[in-house]
Amino acid sequence: MGTIYAIANQKGGVGKTTTAVNVAACIAAAGYETLVVDVDPQGNATVGLGVAREGAGVYDVLAGDVSAREAVRTTDIERLSILVSTPDLAGATMELPRLAGSERRLREALDPLREDFAFILLDCPPSLGPLTVNALVAAERVIVPVQTEYFALEGLAGLLDTLSLIQRELNPRLTVAGMLLTMHDARTKLAQDVEREVRAHFPALVFDTVIPRNVRLGEAPSYGIPVIHHDPHCSGAEAYFELAKEVAARG
Ligand code: ADP
Ligand code: MG
Repeated sequence: MGTIYAIANQKGGVGKTTTAVNVAACIAAAGYETLVVDVDPQGNATVGLGVAREGAGVYDVLAGDVSAREAVRTTDIERLSILVSTPDLAGATMELPRLAGSERRLREALDPLREDFAFILLDCPPSLGPLTVNALVAAERVIVPVQTEYFALEGLAGLLDTLSLIQRELNPRLTVAGMLLTMHDARTKLAQDVEREVRAHFPALVFDTVIPRNVRLGEAPSYGIPVIHHDPHCSGAEAYFELAKEVAARG
């Protein structure tokens, strides 16, 4: 049975999508059937994997119009599939709360896919709205990317409170897989201080692997490919390989 990971942080631009796409690519490269579910109306994971934002996707699955299995599409990367984000997903934020069992719709839809995939990664939007709640109810583990910059800790306490609430009320199996330090520039004192502070605040929670700031990671999405297929030996690719191993080991 596959394990479902949500990549979540209500802050935008902290590396959620980059983490979802690249961890998924590393796991697929290691030989596991892997699925990315693009739960963000911005569709960056879909585009970053070179897939068109059209046809059946997460929106249609949440609406109950197609099964998740019917909507899953292959990518050009071996063993890596995707459930896409189409532009109409933006409307789901308004429509979802009106549907019966609204928080559990993604969980119920994805359940059969756990037989098909060893790893399912949900790329969340930058909010704690209904789409993120659906992802957190569907997931067993959460990866929280944290950019090592000033204000890194801001919002993390609130996010952890939300995770506890969801665990209590909606999804008792939910645990934090780890916090991931991203876009780290080890040359700056600020980044070093932030890393120390985050590790001190959440001693057991932070992954050992730190994702460096790396030009290749930033440009790979414009080619519609994960970084390990863009430049397999760059620092970003190596870091995401290490992270994928750590994620699997913690699982
Ligand atoms: P989020 O999904 O949390 O909004 P993204 O993963 O889209 O964040 O990252 C925000 C921007 O930063 C994107 O343009 C992405 O390509 C870039 N980026 C992410 N991680 C790195 C990194 N480690 N080094 C350089 N650029 C990065
Ligand atoms: Mg994103």
